[in-house]
Amino acid sequence: MAHLLLIEDDVAIRTHLLKALRERGHAVAASHTAMDGLQTALAERPDLVVLDLGLPDLDGRELLRMLRAVSAVPVIVATARDDETGIVQVLDAGADDYLVKPFTAAQLDARIRAVLRRGAERTEPAALVVGGLHIDPGARTATLDGAGLDLTPREFDLLHHLATRAGQVVTKRELLSEVWQVPYGGADKTVDVHLSWLRRKLGETAQQPRYLHTVRGVGIRLSGPA
Ligand code: CA
Repeated sequence: MAHLLLIEDDVAIRTHLLKALRERGHAVAASHTAMDGLQTALAERPDLVVLDLGLPDLDGRELLRMLRAVSAVPVIVATARDDETGIVQVLDAGADDYLVKPFTAAQLDARIRAVLRRGAERTEPAALVVGGLHIDPGARTATLDGAGLDLTPREFDLLHHLATRAGQVVTKRELLSEVWQVPYGGADKTVDVHLSWLRRKLGETAQQPRYLHTVRGVGIRLSGPA
C-alpha cells in the first residue's frame, strides 16, 4: 500500500481513479488545482504524486518544477498530450514516469508500483563485506567481526568509499575529492589523519595492517586479512 496524491481537475477522471486506486489498497488524497496539490504534497508527504498536466490555475509542468525545488517525491505525469517534445520536457523537469490519456487504473497502478520499487532500490543500497568488515550504507553503520564500530560520519564515509573499491589502491587525491569533496589540490595530511584514526578503531597499526594497506607513494588499499 502506498500513500498517493492525485492532482487532477477532471471530476470524472479523478473520481474514477480515486475509487480504483483505493480498491487496489492505496491511501489516496486528491487535489483539483495545482496550488492545492502543492500544499497537500508538502503537508501530507505522499509516497508518490500522480500529476495531470492540464490544470486550471497553473500548467502541470510549472507545478512539477515548483515541487522538484522542494521535494524529491516520485511523480508520474498523466498527460493528454502525446507529443514527444512535451514528454521529454516533463521527464527532464524531474518526472519519474508518464502515462498518456486515456489509461486504465490498472496501468497506472503498475507504473506506480514500478516507480516505488525503483525508489526502494535506490534508498536501500547493498551492504558491503570485506573480510570481517560489514558496512551498511543505508543505516550508515559498520561492524568488524560482529562488533559495532563507533565511527564519525567522515570516518564512515572514508571506510565506505574504500570498501566500494576493495582490493584496489585508492589515491589520496581521489579520497579528498570523493569523501571530502575538496577539489584537486587539497591537503593529503587530512586524509592521513583520518586514516590513522580509522586504523585505531579497526585495532591495527600502519606497521601491522590487517585491512588498511598503505601503498607508498600511491595511496591506500582496503582488503581483508589474508
Ligand atoms: Ca486536466
